[in-house]
Amino acid sequence: MAQEDGMELNENAEIDTSQVEDARGSGGGGGGFGGLPIPIGGGGLTGIIITVLLVLVGGYFGVNNLGGGGSSSTSDNGKINSECKQGDATKQLDCRNVLYINSIQAYWATELPKAFGKQYEKSVTKIFANRVNTGCGAADSGVGPFYCPADDKVYIDLTFYQLLAKQLGAPGEFAQPYVLAHEYGHHVQDLLGTEAKMRRAQQSDPDSANLQSVRLELQADCYAGAWAKGATGTTDAKGNKIFKSLTDEDIQEGIQTAGQIGDDTLQQRNGGTVNPAEFTHGTSADRQKWFRTGYDSGDPTKCDTFAPGAVNEGD
Ligand SMILES: [Zn+2]
Repeated sequence: MAQEDGMELNENAEIDTSQVEDARGSGGGGGGFGGLPIPIGGGGLTGIIITVLLVLVGGYFGVNNLGGGGSSSTSDNGKINSECKQGDATKQLDCRNVLYINSIQAYWATELPKAFGKQYEKSVTKIFANRVNTGCGAADSGVGPFYCPADDKVYIDLTFYQLLAKQLGAPGEFAQPYVLAHEYGHHVQDLLGTEAKMRRAQQSDPDSANLQSVRLELQADCYAGAWAKGATGTTDAKGNKIFKSLTDEDIQEGIQTAGQIGDDTLQQRNGGTVNPAEFTHGTSADRQKWFRTGYDSGDPTKCDTFAPGAVNEGD
C-alpha cells in the first residue's frame, strides 16, 4: 500500500475523538429537511441510487429524504475512544481519519483568521453506516460524503473509500484526507457566508444554478489543496505534529482522486454521455486544476472560483 512510501502520521500525536461522532451503531431515518446537503460528487457517484430527490434548483441529487420514521442516529464514541488510545492507533482506519480531521481543523483554526479575518468554529464529522438522519434530511451512503450547512456537520460512511478504490479508480490513501478536506472546505464556505450567497444567486438566476454549484465545489477542492500544503505544519493540542511526512506521491493521489470524481468522468462511468449542462461539481480537469491551485499557493485567498472568468462557463 501507499503507506510505505506515502504519508506517515505521528504515532505520538494525540487523537482528538471529540471531533467525530460515531453513529455506526444505529440506523438513520426521520427528521425534517432544513437545508441542502453538499455531496462530494455529482449525479450519483455510484449510479445505483434508487431514490433521488432534486432539491430546489441546485442539482443536488442522491439524498433520499425519507421524511419520518426509522430509528434515531444516536452516537456512541466508546469504541472509537478506546481504539484510538491504543499504541497502534495510527494503523487503524478510524483513528487515521480522526487525525486527518484534527489536522484539517487545526489548519483552519490558524488559517481562517489569517486569510479571511474570521474565527474558525469546529465542525463535527458524523461517521455513519448505510443511512443517517441529518439536519438536511435523511441520507444514505449512496450520496457519498457530504456537508450539511443546517447542522454544520460533515457526514461520511467510511466504506465510501472502498468504493473510491475499487469502482472509482482512486485507491491511494491520500484520497481519504482529500475527501475530508473538501467537505471541511464547505464548512469554511458556510462560515464565510459563501454558501448562503451562492444559494441566493441560484435563486435569483436559476439558469446559472449549476454553474454556481460548480464554483462552490471547485473552491472546496482548492481549499483541500491549501490544507494539503499546510498539513505537515499542523499540530495536536499539545503541539505535536500530526503528520510526520507527506510526499509528492500523496499529492498525486489527491490530484488523481479529484480527477476520478469530476462530473464528466462520473457521467462516462455511469454509461451516459457527457452533458456539461448537468455539471454540478466541475470537470475532472477543473477539479484537479483547483486542487493544485490551492496546493501550489498554500493560500486559500487564491481560491476565488467566483471571480469572473475563473471557471469556464462555455463547456
Ligand atoms: Zn463538495
